[in-house]
Amino acid sequence: MRDWLFRTVGEHQAAMRANEYSSEDLTRAFLRRIEEKNQEIGAYLTVDAEGALCAARASDARRAKGELLSELDGIPYAAKDNFSTKGIRTTCASKLLEHFVPPYDATVIQILKDAGAVLLGKLNMDEFAMGSSNESSAFYPTRNPYDPSRVAGGSSGGSAAAVSAGMACFALGSDTGGSVRQPASFCGVVGLKPTYGVISRYGLISLASSMDAVGLLTHTAEDCRLLLSLLAKRDERDDTSISLSPLPIPKGNLRVGLLEGEGLASPAQREALERAKERLAALGATVLPFTLPSPHKALAAYSVLMSSEASSNLARFDGIRYGSRVDHSDGVLNLYTDTRGELLGKETVRRILFGSYVLQAEHRADFYERARVFRQEIRDRMLASFAEFDVILSPTTPTTAFSVGEIRTPTQMYHADLCTVYANLAGLPAISLPFGTEEGSGLPLSIQLTAAPHGESVLFSVASLLECPQSAAWEVRV
Ligand code: GLN
Repeated sequence: MRDWLFRTVGEHQAAMRANEYSSEDLTRAFLRRIEEKNQEIGAYLTVDAEGALCAARASDARRAKGELLSELDGIPYAAKDNFSTKGIRTTCASKLLEHFVPPYDATVIQILKDAGAVLLGKLNMDEFAMGSSNESSAFYPTRNPYDPSRVAGGSSGGSAAAVSAGMACFALGSDTGGSVRQPASFCGVVGLKPTYGVISRYGLISLASSMDAVGLLTHTAEDCRLLLSLLAKRDERDDTSISLSPLPIPKGNLRVGLLEGEGLASPAQREALERAKERLAALGATVLPFTLPSPHKALAAYSVLMSSEASSNLARFDGIRYGSRVDHSDGVLNLYTDTRGELLGKETVRRILFGSYVLQAEHRADFYERARVFRQEIRDRMLASFAEFDVILSPTTPTTAFSVGEIRTPTQMYHADLCTVYANLAGLPAISLPFGTEEGSGLPLSIQLTAAPHGESVLFSVASLLECPQSAAWEVRV
């Protein structure tokens, strides 16, 4: 049996049922682990030890009476710091929100509270979820538990690292262009981005509302399935929220589209993909090549749309309506510009400026309109492909985790999203699975599966054929 801090939800429930340990014991163990490791890994921005212990004791009391609220009752988890948590600081890893304490819980946080799950704290991220490495956190970067000289990925880097390093049983993240799947890939954990709208975004601080999705980071696809069954609920407080209507699991031979194209994966990631392909073929799947129209154009379209929406969503953080403000400005205009200029990071400012530029009336046809049309083409193309395939198999990320400080230009950084943005542009569910480690570096390799809208069940069933949980491998190296 794996060390207890690396166990799945089901394993913890079985152990607690057998009175091996209580939720309080488990919560204390996670808190100790956080205390030991956070200095090095930088996964947490805020730890709520008192709140967590109080929730754990309440869960133990319910267990003693046989009144458990759900399969998550007593399970310690953590949330990316862009989910509103009542009474707990929510910073989006930005100086501008450094002291913001929300007066309400995001719907997902509320559902987990009602289910008895134990919130340990809030996790580091790229500022306002813009980035692929957590290096744009205003506080400190998150480091990769497999090799602390490497990044954990981003923007949900804290979420991936916390699960990978045994600092939480599972974590919530957000995925607008790959921010759950890419760090999951770098840290050797499972990352799910569900169909757009099936998990409520109410209380998730928006980046690009038409693509943002609440995502899940876990040790296994089974844990994702369990969490999704609880969290996928229509929510009246989110106008884009829809009910999940699960697609049937394909009968007969599985039809797999293998994404092909130049420069999509390093030799090591390609080798993982080959192994996955062979495993599926050996199980009787038909694997056929699948190509997408211009991945680089998709990345550009994503960049235009995401920055446009972000510039408008972030306009409220001006030091007057929301956020801290600098205290040395004279006049309202200076107050705005000084606050935003001094308290927002470089990448955030870059995207706000780019977004504002492309949204100007005279540029509309050149940028926003073209990106929107291309997005529709991608969506049509992907949806049509699901007549032919049950799932698409692809790399999650072109490479394994890169070194802290290695990537110097924004465009190089955007390249990390090459294989993930499709799912967001088209609103599709996609999952990243750990798939062995790279020879020599020992860094996690991964693969990604993408399905038609509402095809999470298909993803989970294919994942169960492929899965090789990995955090245990790292545990040996602790
Ligand atoms: N890495 C991507 C970006 O920087 C994805 C962000 C996200 O999914 N939140 O835009």
